[in-house]
Amino acid sequence: MSILSDRVLNMSTSATLAMAAKTRELKAEGIDIIGLSLGEPDFNTPDFIKNAAIDAINEDYNSYTPVDGYIELKEAIITKFKRDNNLNYNKAQIVVSTGAKQSLANVAAVMLNKGDEVILPCPYWVSYSDIVKLNEGVPVEVKTSIENDFKLTPQQLEAAITPRTKMIWYSSPCNPSGSVYSKEELRAIADVLQNHPDIIVVSDEIYEHINFVGDHASMAQFEDMFDRTITVNGVSKAFAMTGWRIGYIGAPETIARACNKMQGQITSGANCIAQRAVITGLNESPSRVQFMIDEFKVRRELILGLLNQIPGFKTNEPEGAFYVFPDVSHYYGKTLNGHLINNATDFSLYLLEHAHVATVTGEAFGNPDCIRISYAASQEQIIEAIKRIKASVI
Ligand code: PMP
Ligand code: GLU
Repeated sequence: MSILSDRVLNMSTSATLAMAAKTRELKAEGIDIIGLSLGEPDFNTPDFIKNAAIDAINEDYNSYTPVDGYIELKEAIITKFKRDNNLNYNKAQIVVSTGAKQSLANVAAVMLNKGDEVILPCPYWVSYSDIVKLNEGVPVEVKTSIENDFKLTPQQLEAAITPRTKMIWYSSPCNPSGSVYSKEELRAIADVLQNHPDIIVVSDEIYEHINFVGDHASMAQFEDMFDRTITVNGVSKAFAMTGWRIGYIGAPETIARACNKMQGQITSGANCIAQRAVITGLNESPSRVQFMIDEFKVRRELILGLLNQIPGFKTNEPEGAFYVFPDVSHYYGKTLNGHLINNATDFSLYLLEHAHVATVTGEAFGNPDCIRISYAASQEQIIEAIKRIKASVI
């Protein structure tokens, strides 16, 4: 008998975190790796947020918080939803968690029974599939195409729905493709769901502010979708606060209460100092962090321009987040410097070993033709990384 449960044995390791760990290891050995694998802003948390955390420590915020978050934080989240997304949530509909990852894990745990299906348009964020499986759900992967900017069409959605479909999960702006669904595209998806009133939508909007094309659209903005949408968001990306671990949901009350119950048995709530700091972050105008978004935009142009000069790399034009997701299937079956490349994992490992650039295989995101490259790195690093990649494939 194994010492470990089948549950954990059947789970994949997070490919993004595994690649980040590998990068750290190689760097510690003195190898000059450029890490473009992790989706983590390379900026520091802004001072006005850091100062709020220091104040919270000095003001003796050190006790357990309410399980679903400080009231003042819930109020700040309600204000943010209203101000940025025109969504009207009340306090009973908000749950603060230890990162949006835990928000998603809560939702899966409180909603899925064995065999329930969750539609995941591919490429999807790396952890969706394993979070669903961990909770005995069945991920139903729906392939999208680079020609359609990796977006799900209403027809594809309709074809994927079965009597077991419980939810659909997607991110917009999307990690890893950078695609952004417009209001019209979301409406077309909502129209399909009108014929399937029991399906709940999980709309992961954590990259909301890192959007280069304009207005962010939320599924819950449609009156007929508000009561069946869980809006997931967090501060890791826009506020450069990955390590602080704060995420949150706005959800139908029954689901929010269940998430509160679940996390009451698992974490007792998110960290008190981080919660206090996030109150300050969310109450400020998003313009305070615009400088980071402006810089991501410059880097997007830079990396797209450089990648387009490499034969065999096919890219869409990401409209948000900080990733490019090139199709590299051109190289499959070819031998590069003595290494046979059969798939995206081989290619990504080849780049790590040969070009000393860390990327993530598209297989982790449900798309075996692509690799993900994060451009949350300095312009100098991006230029050097793409130069190395180019030299290693031609
Ligand atoms: N959703 C998406 C699409 C992500 O890229 C991430 C990674 N940060 C998360 C959720 C989880 O974010 P966190 O747990 O750091 O709030
Ligand atoms: N979301 C980031 C990524 O996709 C961070 C890593 C993780 O949370 O898995 O790289």
